Amino acid sequence: MKVASLLFFAGVFASVQAETVNEVLRRSGVVISECKLPKTAALTFDDGPNQYNVDIGTTLRKYGAKGTFFICGNLYHCIYDYADSVRKLFLQGHQIASHSWSHPDLAKLNVSAITAELEKTDQAIQDIIGFRPAYMRPPYGSYNDNVTAVAKARGQDVVIWNFDSQDWNSLTANQSETRYSDFVATKPNTVLALNHETYNTTAHEVLPYAIKLLQKNGYRLVTVAECVGGKPYLPPKPPKPPHLPPPPPHSPPHGHLPRHFLDVRGKTCS
Ligand SMILES: [Zn+2]
Repeated sequence: MKVASLLFFAGVFASVQAETVNEVLRRSGVVISECKLPKTAALTFDDGPNQYNVDIGTTLRKYGAKGTFFICGNLYHCIYDYADSVRKLFLQGHQIASHSWSHPDLAKLNVSAITAELEKTDQAIQDIIGFRPAYMRPPYGSYNDNVTAVAKARGQDVVIWNFDSQDWNSLTANQSETRYSDFVATKPNTVLALNHETYNTTAHEVLPYAIKLLQKNGYRLVTVAECVGGKPYLPPKPPKPPHLPPPPPHSPPHGHLPRHFLDVRGKTCS
């Protein structure tokens, strides 16, 4: 009886401990679905880099707005082939963030595969702009304890959204615009909007509509990092070869590429 009781309590203790470890892991990874600063709106664009990214950046800039681009290493295009446009967005003050290398459902991968997806992307972004992204968005918004734990270990916050334009879901520009209007009519404190840079209609119709709508309703259009009061980038890993100058400890002011960014000509995704 005594032994049975001991075993019972040992079992309970072990399961409580296991739960606690999982809980801690889950909670230790930050998952952001809303901006924190009142009356801020963060427009985000997934699945690039792609052909409309510079148009999107230019339209945002025209209205004094900033956006956030969750880009992949190799989804529709190899990131290195779009290095110039990604740098241009970065120099305009838009935020460059990670959307994994090949856009898998990260919740279906093991820890080492998740790590590989994020590391390859972070390294490519570092090669292009000189810094690693401090924020990542899991493809399909799909994450589990492993994803949040890996992101946390890498110093990254996981970003979801509180508004979905559903441009990915075959909606017309008008339908996405109506979704924006309906959401803004609910007077949300903040807006963290999911869009995709891969659609012509998103870049050239929905975006100007959304910017004007949000600004008319008093929202400040900022990056994800700004709307949550965080820093957009992590320091780069020390570059190889070692003769390059050491990286600066902090993110650069907008409009400046760090001196240590690498020449990515000739780099490929294969
Ligand atoms: Zn995606």
